[in-house]
Amino acid sequence: MIRKLISRVFRGKKKKSAPHAAAVIPVASHGITRDRLSSASRRTCEALQHAGFEAYVVGGAVRDLLLGAQPKDFDVATNATPEEVRRCIRRSRIIGRRFQIVHALFGQEVIEVTTFRGKLDANTKKDEHGRVLHDNVFGSQAEDAARRDFTANALYYDPASENVIDYHHGVGDLKAKTLRMIGEPRARYREDPVRMLRAVRLAAKLGLSIDPEARRPIRDMAGLLENVPAARLFDEMLKLLTSGHAVKCLTQLRDEGLHHGLLPLLDVILEQPLGEKFVLQALANTDERVRRGKSVSPSFLFATLLWHEVLVHWARIEASGEPKIPALFQAMDHVLDVQGEKLAITRRIAGDIKEIWSLQPRFEQRTGKRPYALIENPRFRAGYDFLLLRAQAGEIAPELATWWTHFQDADGEARAQMLLPVSDDDKKRRRRRKKPKPANPA
Ligand code: ATP
Ligand code: MG
Repeated sequence: MIRKLISRVFRGKKKKSAPHAAAVIPVASHGITRDRLSSASRRTCEALQHAGFEAYVVGGAVRDLLLGAQPKDFDVATNATPEEVRRCIRRSRIIGRRFQIVHALFGQEVIEVTTFRGKLDANTKKDEHGRVLHDNVFGSQAEDAARRDFTANALYYDPASENVIDYHHGVGDLKAKTLRMIGEPRARYREDPVRMLRAVRLAAKLGLSIDPEARRPIRDMAGLLENVPAARLFDEMLKLLTSGHAVKCLTQLRDEGLHHGLLPLLDVILEQPLGEKFVLQALANTDERVRRGKSVSPSFLFATLLWHEVLVHWARIEASGEPKIPALFQAMDHVLDVQGEKLAITRRIAGDIKEIWSLQPRFEQRTGKRPYALIENPRFRAGYDFLLLRAQAGEIAPELATWWTHFQDADGEARAQMLLPVSDDDKKRRRRRKKPKPANPA
């Protein structure tokens, strides 16, 4: 009796630190049959298992299936090395230098195949704050599970047996709607501060609550995000903004103290009293699109997030005497120069953002041939969506947006009738533009 009690207490104590024996959960209990997987992930596992390796669908996909959600993508984990994986799967290539992974290609689908990662040890390279810089040792499945962030993300699904392998009580935590960190949360945040953002994003997206032990240190440790490279933060923020739950994520980030000076993007979003309505409207629209399965473009999203800054600078430059359009271009360059670097916006995205912005004044021109030319512009759709948003947020008269909605739908005759008459001012302006400029009086 006493021995039983002691062993139970001991088991309870041991739960956090001891190496975990895996629970094998059969399909009868979890209900996920192999036909729920994408065919590419199944074929990847089959090819590897056929060659004698272990292979499992792992991470977010298993978690999402257990929650009854459709996974965004399927990842595979295996004990085969990247070279071995490449030999097993005809259309595959090794990518990455630091920690090599393999992309297996089946038609349009790409499966990311990772070799089980090993334990961090004294040789693991870290920066002065404890952030892991290199993490490229292979290991066992149990070690791989322990290196993952949350218990719900450390589940392995074997398509052959349809079993779920669970080292950290992830299935139980999911049932209890809890996002629990594997290991000691403070240590895990130190290794990789981005896990704080992942906790907030995954909890918001999946309707889970962050376990108090993982939640508590976030406020204290938020400062560590300053040492994370900007490009990594950009990727994570983009995931957050396109998760379909951006508004909820942002509110929660603010509640957890993960804002102000830590995430430049968040400062942009939350620190603009005038633009707040516009930004929140944009994010609510984005959430809606994502939930309906539509794509969202990062450039559109960033164009909305930075628009009000452009408006402020535009007005200022125009007030200093610069004509309207050159003033807009100067304002765009200024905002992109300053924010582009902070937010790690790539050149390509910056180019797309500029196009969306620079189309905006052209929507005001509703005379003559101009509306026809605008409608043919390859970026018309994005520009028009942006215009709708401006109208929705009360920045411009809704009538202008409605006009463009009708103009697109109208046939040739009706379109011609919609055009506004050319005003006398317009005529004068055009005539002035055609005349050669008088030479400057000396
Ligand atoms: P999403 O639904 O956004 O794809 P995800 O959990 O699948 O969520 P990924 O970035 O695709 O996120 O990562 C795949 C898996 O890799 C995770 O489920 C987790 O097991 C592991 N992982 C990802 N990022 C980390 C991290 N920072 N620390 C530890 N493990 C991580
Ligand atoms: Mg994923």
